[in-house]
Amino acid sequence: MWVTISRTEGKKVRRIVSVRFKIAAVFSLFTAALLLFMNIYPIYVSRDMVFATKRSALQSQGSVISSSLSALEKLSAENVEQVMELLDMAPMTRLVVTDPDGRVLYDTGGADNGGPLWGVEEALGGYTRFSCAYSYTAGSFTSRCTVPVAGAAGVTGAVYLYEYDTEQGDIIAGLQQNLGNMSALFGGAGLVIIIVISTTLTRRIKRLSKAMDVVRGGDYSHRITVRGKDELAALAEEFNVLTGRLEATEEARRRFVSDASHELRTPLAAIRLLSDSITQSDSMDPDTMREFARDIGAEAYRLQRITEKLMTLTKLDSGVTDRQPEPVDMKAVAERTLHLLEPLAAEQDVRLRTDLAEGCVVSASADDLYQIIFNLAENAVKYNHPGGSVDLALRQADGQALLTVADTGIGIPEADMEHIFDRFYRVDKARSRASGGSGLGLAIVHDAVVANGGTIQAAPRPQGGTEFTVSFPLRAPAADRTDRS
Ligand code: ADP
Repeated sequence: MWVTISRTEGKKVRRIVSVRFKIAAVFSLFTAALLLFMNIYPIYVSRDMVFATKRSALQSQGSVISSSLSALEKLSAENVEQVMELLDMAPMTRLVVTDPDGRVLYDTGGADNGGPLWGVEEALGGYTRFSCAYSYTAGSFTSRCTVPVAGAAGVTGAVYLYEYDTEQGDIIAGLQQNLGNMSALFGGAGLVIIIVISTTLTRRIKRLSKAMDVVRGGDYSHRITVRGKDELAALAEEFNVLTGRLEATEEARRRFVSDASHELRTPLAAIRLLSDSITQSDSMDPDTMREFARDIGAEAYRLQRITEKLMTLTKLDSGVTDRQPEPVDMKAVAERTLHLLEPLAAEQDVRLRTDLAEGCVVSASADDLYQIIFNLAENAVKYNHPGGSVDLALRQADGQALLTVADTGIGIPEADMEHIFDRFYRVDKARSRASGGSGLGLAIVHDAVVANGGTIQAAPRPQGGTEFTVSFPLRAPAADRTDRS
């Protein structure tokens, strides 16, 4: 059975062979071959067994007659007749005795095929011959055996035995009939089982493919009811897991797009309002105008920062990055970053303190490390109290480079801890906005840490404030790596 399916998306029409048809065809062929073998093999074996029995029976009868006749100096119709009467052999379909020239001296005259006596010539040459044939149509065994009569002076004649047996043939025909009936029964039952199995299988495959169609149509909430414990059930389970992930990703994407447009809309609205105020006012004094223009600039800068951060996140998401992992000394990156933050720290009256160990070389992207340290340290300054401090420490432990950024700031409430790495999540929206935050910094930090094979944790400090710990596997010394490679 050929099934035609059309793919609406690719506009491609594909011809496929139904799995049901394949299974049914393979099983049917296999069953047919098995039944054929079951029918033929026992018949052949039984037939050969009958052949062997006939051979030994006819040959031994022939030998008995031949040895009885071999005592006679010369065979004649009379003396052969006498010996035969004395022997009183079991009835045979036909028994013939010839003289050395092949002339018939004795003949029971039973039915034969009427042709020349088979094998007599060879028997007169001193050879014993036997032949047996089974007729499937008549259900009969036809056996012939010729034995030489060996006298003192050489071959004195030949004994020809012929047997036509339908008794054994009937047994074999009966066996054949029984095998045929059993085969029909098994074949029929097998066929029903094949149809049931293949129909059940294809029904389950169809359910899977239907579910895929539904999901492809955009309904990511669709799930399959998992039945059984076989591979198809595992596939259905896997499908549900994948669809669940797809649903979560789609939900995150929707939320991201809506949050992003909301974030972008706010500064854009402010810019429009400010520019409208300038254009619609006839008598705005230069100082106010300058102030408005400054505000427009600040909002534009905010927009620029948000879009830059969005770009960074999108790049981290897609895994597309022009930066390659390289050996990076974290101390150097930390020092460079803190240097850039000094003006902000001074403005906020926050002290920056460092305790940076040497030799913390990791395999990562230097730009990503900069983003991580900058965002963490900037937050530690932004969400601090005037007169507070930020401690940035770097050390090695258990093959890891550990970077901690601890502040004496406002801290993060316990309930918010699990959300702070979410995109656009802000604990105190007003404070974050006032300090130019967008709720994207920690999401970038998290994604950059993961992209570079590290881990990150945040914890409240007992004395107040927050401590972030980032760890990366230390890069093995160059000599070690060369030895190993
Ligand atoms: P933002 O751009 O708003 O700073 P982040 O993703 O960097 O966004 O941080 C998310 C939120 O987590 C911030 O809005 C702030 O409420 C909180 N937060 C981050 N770092 C700290 C910190 N060191 N101390 C207190 N709160 C913090």
